[in-house]
Amino acid sequence: MHIQKPRDVLAIGLTGGIGSGKTTVSNRLAQLGAKVVDADEVAHRITAAGGAAMSAIEEAFGPAALRPDGAMDRDYIRKLAFDQPAVRSHLEQILHPIIRHTIQEELQDVTAPYCVLVIPLLFEKGGWHEFMDAVVVVDCPVDVQFARVKKRNGWPDSQIHAVIEAQASRATRLAGADFVIENHGDEADLIAQVDELHKKLIKIQAK
Ligand code: ATP
Repeated sequence: MHIQKPRDVLAIGLTGGIGSGKTTVSNRLAQLGAKVVDADEVAHRITAAGGAAMSAIEEAFGPAALRPDGAMDRDYIRKLAFDQPAVRSHLEQILHPIIRHTIQEELQDVTAPYCVLVIPLLFEKGGWHEFMDAVVVVDCPVDVQFARVKKRNGWPDSQIHAVIEAQASRATRLAGADFVIENHGDEADLIAQVDELHKKLIKIQAK
């Protein structure tokens, strides 16, 4: 564990593969009093009607990229990106600076003892480490991940495999972890580990 001196407020990155248990962990940490900022949730917020990314999206992809209510039309963008692969990177170029700026703003004036930044693709997309003092990885075997996503999303096996394959490997994530939560047991076991982590973070913040 490499944490030495927290910034104003200790900021922890939380990551893990699809279905690993990130949301369950971050919900528990929020219950315990942490401020939780989720990059996926921020991405949705800025592409909702009137969201901070919408004028740039309209300018880049035209009015057809907006639904009648003014939110980004995800189906339209998905189809556009399928036909024109450059659309995906163009969209990322628009979204990422706004997501980062929004997260930076949310880290100001935090009264919680520490923040949790849920960044599903922390190891796949660079540039996040400057925001955080330590990284928590939620880990489980691939077959457990697979079974959870199957049960929750009902996707075809090939789709689940494709997503898992496209993400960083367990080894890559574990190599970059300051704390590991092993989520291959039941939910009670998971919550017990999260509660232990919370105690450690409170101690670090208090130093
Ligand atoms: P995603 O990346 O797909 O958003 P996630 O990492 O946020 O997933 P969760 O949504 O927390 O993962 O968990 C995935 C599914 O597995 C959920 O339906 C959750 O209730 C379930 N789950 C998580 N941990 C456990 C556990 N220890 N025992 C049983 N079910 C679990």
